[in-house]
Amino acid sequence: MANQDKFKKIGSFLGETLDKATSKISDTVENFDKEEFKENVSDFSKKVVDTATQKYDKAVGDDKYCAVCGKKLGIIGKRKIADGTLCNQCSIEFKSISEKEHFALSQKSSTELIELREIHRKKQKKLYLLLVVAWIVMMLLLFGGLSLSSSREKKKHKNQIDISSIKYSLNEETYESIEQKFRDAGFTNIVFDVSEDLPKNKESNVGIVDKIEINGNSSIKSMEWVDKDATVKIFYHLLEPEKEIINNENDESPSSSSNFEGYEDYTNNDKDHYKNGDSGKYSYIREDSLHDFYLIIDFDEGYVYYFLEGDGNTECDKVPITSGNLNDVVIITFRENETETWNWGLHFKWVNQPDHLVLEDDDHFEYDFYTTDLNRALNLRDKKKIITY
Ligand SMILES: [Zn+2]
Repeated sequence: MANQDKFKKIGSFLGETLDKATSKISDTVENFDKEEFKENVSDFSKKVVDTATQKYDKAVGDDKYCAVCGKKLGIIGKRKIADGTLCNQCSIEFKSISEKEHFALSQKSSTELIELREIHRKKQKKLYLLLVVAWIVMMLLLFGGLSLSSSREKKKHKNQIDISSIKYSLNEETYESIEQKFRDAGFTNIVFDVSEDLPKNKESNVGIVDKIEINGNSSIKSMEWVDKDATVKIFYHLLEPEKEIINNENDESPSSSSNFEGYEDYTNNDKDHYKNGDSGKYSYIREDSLHDFYLIIDFDEGYVYYFLEGDGNTECDKVPITSGNLNDVVIITFRENETETWNWGLHFKWVNQPDHLVLEDDDHFEYDFYTTDLNRALNLRDKKKIITY
């Protein structure tokens, strides 16, 4: 359409020019020479035709210029379309589009081709997006599969923990930080081994963990799946106590509790009796980041002493033993008044192994306790105000 308009313009321009020329001749020439006129007209029209042809070629571009990009056509690779010819480059481009979009090049005009090319490009963009989405979906499926198989792995190890998943640094981290990591991983039975053996110049090592044992084994790197209720023992150090020396100097009068010499430091029982859990005294501790909980089980008196160290706690509960022995269960009964009573149960975690004690409270929560020096515990107790139940 655009090319036809141009052609009409050229035609009317030619007609106007011829009219002007003829009238100018008849007006100005007195001796009219027909031969000369013919020659002039023929010369003139030849020039006009040449110019028109050139202008037409350039405007319509039928065979010399690409109908789409306007580049001069070469000798090879041209291709006819409805309103012109495509250059080599456009031919290649539109041939592949026409094959993908299923249309015949020869039946499309340049404007239609340009529109189709836009549509094709949008489709390609969509296809590319689709590929990206497909790739993401594939990745999700892949990782989903992985996490599925890892959850299967977890199921297989129900109530176990992959110890290699806990990252920590010995000789750098504090016991609080490491305790938190083991608790977060799911361990429930975490205890501490605190040695008050650091000289003053090693103050920076206070609270720093230098060893961890799981069920008494410190080669954790060689372990993989570990039971959740395994005993995790975290070892750290405190400064050497100076207090003891001061205390000894100040406390000239002997402490009210005499020093016991048992087979183990946590009991005054001898070798033949300490596993029975039904006589003498036993001393246990449970440590967390805030407090030390002490239990002194005194079969001689028939009482259990329970107190907290830390945070300024000054009282100690004294609760009567109602029944039992530690290999089975010792029941202690708190009695607030006639109607309000509640029981705690105490027993060795494993029969005949006094080093690990379980306390079950009135809500049936269980707490782990471990042996601690009896004389030290008694000294601490004696500084407390005793509340008898
Ligand atoms: Zn072209």
